[in-house]
Amino acid sequence: MPTKRQAARHASGGKGMKKRPTLVVDHDNLRYNMRTVTGWCRDAGIDVAGVIKVTTGMASVALDYEECGAKWIASSRLEQLQRAKDAGVKIPLLMIRVPMISELEEMIKVCDYSLQSSLDTLKALEAECLKQDRTHNVILMADLGDLREGFFEKEELVDVAEYVENKLDGIHLAGIGTNLGCVGSVKPTEEKMLMLADWAEAVEEAIGRPLEIVSGGATSSLMPVFDGVMPPKVNMLRIGAVTFCGPTEDLRTCYGRTEVDVMSDEAFILEAEVIETNTKPTHPIGELGVDAFGKKATYTDRGRRRRAILAVGRADYGDIDDLIPLTEGAQVTMASGDHTIVDIEDCKEQIRVGDVMRFKLKYSSILRLTASENITIEEKGR
Ligand SMILES: *Cc1c(COP(=O)(O)O)cnc(C)c1O
Repeated sequence: MPTKRQAARHASGGKGMKKRPTLVVDHDNLRYNMRTVTGWCRDAGIDVAGVIKVTTGMASVALDYEECGAKWIASSRLEQLQRAKDAGVKIPLLMIRVPMISELEEMIKVCDYSLQSSLDTLKALEAECLKQDRTHNVILMADLGDLREGFFEKEELVDVAEYVENKLDGIHLAGIGTNLGCVGSVKPTEEKMLMLADWAEAVEEAIGRPLEIVSGGATSSLMPVFDGVMPPKVNMLRIGAVTFCGPTEDLRTCYGRTEVDVMSDEAFILEAEVIETNTKPTHPIGELGVDAFGKKATYTDRGRRRRAILAVGRADYGDIDDLIPLTEGAQVTMASGDHTIVDIEDCKEQIRVGDVMRFKLKYSSILRLTASENITIEEKGR
């Protein structure tokens, strides 16, 4: 029997009163992953733009990336780039969501590089550059079939490149780039990379000089690097996901790329506190309608089982499939906005109210957890 005092300490959260739920960022694991990625790319003649948007732009992560060999820090949001700058990042900043015209005034103050896919925006950017007496570097995007941003025809891209080169004094044409494996799920095959190289050569011929940057995509474009088929012309990748997730990322889970098994999947860990442990049926009792999110769910009857309720929910991390329990035998089964139900019947270790359960995380849960105001972020190793 625990003494009253021990029981009270247990009930008050055991070892100290850290505010939960907690997202633990392990910077040693993170920097190890960053060095792994920048190393692979360096060996293939590729510079890395470290994309920090999945962490909601944590400045400490930007500093890690800079330390680990990234040549740019990139994000889809200007506030995040500003934070990196305020934290002392010295390498150039790259805006990777093609900008709104309404944010150009701010953009050229915050960052030196951006991706572009619209002539109207380029003209507005030129006006803003002249007004502020600044030069801004652009990478024109080529849409090679994924159907997100980018010029869809090679001729159009070449024409716009020539126009920027010859007519726009405030803008420097730094290069071209593409994005794949996103809204259209298109794979960055050798064929797509050769197409990008070909478009780059067409632009170089039209402007009569080499481009500094040919940007071949995001994490998924590591596949042609692994296969040794990346054309030498491609010299930049913009890498986020795999650096933060390692083996929980699509490269491993969808494409079976075992190269990433050397990376850590414990750079981000969610810690949540147990608020109930009861044994209950696994199939709800009564007439079934819809769940908390208006969805018709299906339930498998596995009899009565012991389960833990955790004080964290979909409002914090999104989808239960993105949580990977670190407790052996535990299985996340259901969740509401603020509760997560974990089957602990098969766990060897005793799990009690007040205990903490830990989870590895997939990409979208990191995105949401870093943005959730209910989550305490604990940084280790920085
Ligand atoms: C998000 C994004 C990236 C990084 O993608 P990951 O899959 O996280 O590596 C690169 N480029 C653009 C344009 C992006 O929007």
